[in-house]
Amino acid sequence: MNITQNTKLNFIIGHPLVHSQSPTLHDAAYQLLGIDAVLLVQSQTSLLQLMQTIKTLSIGLTAVTLPFKEKVLQYVDESSPEVKRIRAANTVVQRDHRLCAYNTDVDGIAYALRHIHVAGKTVVVMGAGGAARAMGYFLQQQHANIYWVNRTPEKARKLASEFGGLVIHDQALKSISIDIIINATSVGMHPNIFESPLPNYTFHARQVVFDMVYNPVITQLLKQAQQCQAQIISGLDMFIVQGLKQIELLTGKTYTQAFIDQLKRILMSTLSFRKDYTK
Ligand code: NAP
Repeated sequence: MNITQNTKLNFIIGHPLVHSQSPTLHDAAYQLLGIDAVLLVQSQTSLLQLMQTIKTLSIGLTAVTLPFKEKVLQYVDESSPEVKRIRAANTVVQRDHRLCAYNTDVDGIAYALRHIHVAGKTVVVMGAGGAARAMGYFLQQQHANIYWVNRTPEKARKLASEFGGLVIHDQALKSISIDIIINATSVGMHPNIFESPLPNYTFHARQVVFDMVYNPVITQLLKQAQQCQAQIISGLDMFIVQGLKQIELLTGKTYTQAFIDQLKRILMSTLSFRKDYTK
């Protein structure tokens, strides 16, 4: 892309950021929407320094990822109601020199699960990090029955106390009737594409399996579920919508289903992992 002195600079902050596809998503969306901006990767360990730079350069939009989603809240002036409940943000927008925090992962989750009836369903969430927090908020709003599974059970207990539900060991999953299984861990993410958070679980055809990992698009977990005729949902839909919502928060430009589909085609054809790992 052609960067000029008029080009608005946006940031993505995190550490490490080698596998983030957010610049690809944002830059494609900016081009299609006619926005003269670029998303620059800022990968460093000092969040304080990053936030000072964001203020000094008047950066309009900052996409926030690991490990800063919770820590960033101490540097912002305002938080959306969702951020106050989730206690994690993936977006900071600067308006009139005030930093405002949002969580657009929730919008991405709502979009990815838009065709799934969640109310009253038994949902297993694997993971207890930032993505699981956004999921917990969404599921609580939808009145789902949540079971939490996490490598570090104390963290799962904390989420259960905040968003409701019970903590169980993954070995106990076969003894409960599950409607929806959600992977909110990073297990299976590139480059560890042959790993699954549930390597020995037998899925069934009435289940829905949503993997928040989007790289690869079809993870090992989704392949297992697919083999058992379960309905699968890739993290790519969530990824696209959380990014478009960030752009909407900054520019006011809304998006259509046709635009989401267009971006999906672009991402599927440009993402480096596509030819090797998608179905
Ligand atoms: P996070 O805060 O670092 O949490 C990571 C979670 O994964 C923790 O629960 C951690 O367990 C668990 N975990 C990591 N390695 C594990 C292993 N080897 N075995 C078992 N559990 C393991 O990360 P996050 O922000 O929640 O993100 C989680 C995943 O969601 C990532 O793959 C990310 O790319 C994806 N995500 C996708 C989107 C999207 O738009 N599609 C948006 C946000 C996140 P412990 O608590 O025991 O450490």
